[in-house]
This record gives sequence, structure tokens and C-alpha cells, in this order.
Amino acid sequence: MRTPLIAGNWKMNGSSRLIEEFARALEGFPLPPTVEVALLPPFPYILEMQRALQAGGVKIGAQTLNPLRSGAHTGEVSGRMLKELGAEYVLVGHSERRRLYRESDEDVYDRLVAALNEGLKPILCVGETLEERDAGDTERVVLRQVGKVMAPLEPEQRPLVTIAYEPVWAIGSGRTPSPEQAQEVMATIRRYQGGFDAKLASGLRLLYGGSMNAQNAQELLAQPDIDGGLIGGASLKVDDFLSICHAAG
Ligand code: PEP
Repeated sequence: MRTPLIAGNWKMNGSSRLIEEFARALEGFPLPPTVEVALLPPFPYILEMQRALQAGGVKIGAQTLNPLRSGAHTGEVSGRMLKELGAEYVLVGHSERRRLYRESDEDVYDRLVAALNEGLKPILCVGETLEERDAGDTERVVLRQVGKVMAPLEPEQRPLVTIAYEPVWAIGSGRTPSPEQAQEVMATIRRYQGGFDAKLASGLRLLYGGSMNAQNAQELLAQPDIDGGLIGGASLKVDDFLSICHAAG
């Protein structure tokens, strides 16, 4: 059985005060034991969050990493440093990184391999733009993004990757695909992986991301190929995020 994962991507948001709010809320409202929960704050909050929320069962992650271990790369952070701070998960290939920072599939691959080499668990984000969906290109785009990264990995590395399907047009927009539309793409990703390795496909954890919130989480999470969520905006609201965690439990 696949353990559900709810991961909150704070993007360039959040504060020490919000970490405290989460810590207080978790004291009175523990997380369901059947769900894995992670929060991915901006780098400067990782250690503070780790100290404040680990006891409440929250795992900590980061939103990106540099593919190198160290060196003259002003402003960058390596996987080795994230690991040292106690991070367990790291996003790679988020659509905002692909679009705003021009990360290619090759860049995403390099980051994902660097994460694996440091013992971090990568969450690979994939998803189509609205133009690509309207042109009937969703499957081709998503499977290209998955294939370019997963295919060159060593067979023993592939089960360590979680894939988040995030239609770009649903991120931060308040629009979501219907649960059936999301399910269709996610079943396609699982089938595609099954073409290489049936055991990998059945164990592969697939998250849905894009305007998931306390109202729509339950029906999205009820789909057979949706094993959790990557949550942006709603992860900044303590009650909403915790109710999504409980919907997954
Ligand atoms: C995200 O940034 O990964 C995301 C899913 O954002 P939102 O939930 O705000 O759409």
C-alpha cells in the first residue's frame, strides 16, 4: 500500500510566526498517523521549522537545490546543506522554477540526481500549460517530463522518487481539473512507468497539485491514482492545511 503524502510548498512566503501557529495547532490537533506530512519552507526557515514541528510529526523539505555540492555559486544552496539542516524532501522541476528560472528537463534531472546522492527524497513536479492542454498535448508533455528524468536513473533509484502532477494552469489560479481529469493523467503516468517496471508503477507515489484546498481535497484524494497532494496557497493557512491532511487520513 502507498502511504499518502501531503506536502505544503510555502514558496517565498511564511514567517517565524506562522511556524509557531503550526506548532500550537499541532499540540491540540495531532496529525493522522496514516498520512505522511511535510512542509517545504524557504531555506532560512528550515532549521527553525525542523525544531518546532518535528515532534508534531511534520517532515521538512526544501523547494529546490543546486546540483553541485559546494563551490563559487553565490546565492545557491546544495543538497548536502539541506540534509545537514534535517531536510528530508526536496522539490525539483516545479513549474515556477521551469518558467521563471528557465530550468530545463536536463537541469531538473541534475537536481534530482544530486538530491538522491545526498539521501534526500525528491518530489518531481510535472504538468502541462493551458495552451498545451488545449492543443491536446497534455499526455505528450507530461510523459516527456517524467521520461527525461526517470528513464536515465538507475533502477534502484526510481522507487525513491515521488511525482507530483501539477497542471500549470491550476497552480495558484483557484481552478482545478475535475477529479476524473486529474485521475486520467495520473493513471497515464503510472501506466507509463508500468511499461518499464510493474513493481515500480504499483509503488510509485503520485501527488496532485494545483489549487487543492480544504473543500476539494477529499474528492481529489479519493481517486485511485492520487496518493496525496502538493499544496501551495492552502499550506499557509493552518486550519486548511491540517484539514487537507485529515482528508488524506
Ligand atoms: C504549488 O505551488 O505547487 C501549488 C500547488 O500551488 P497552489 O496550491 O497554490 O495552486
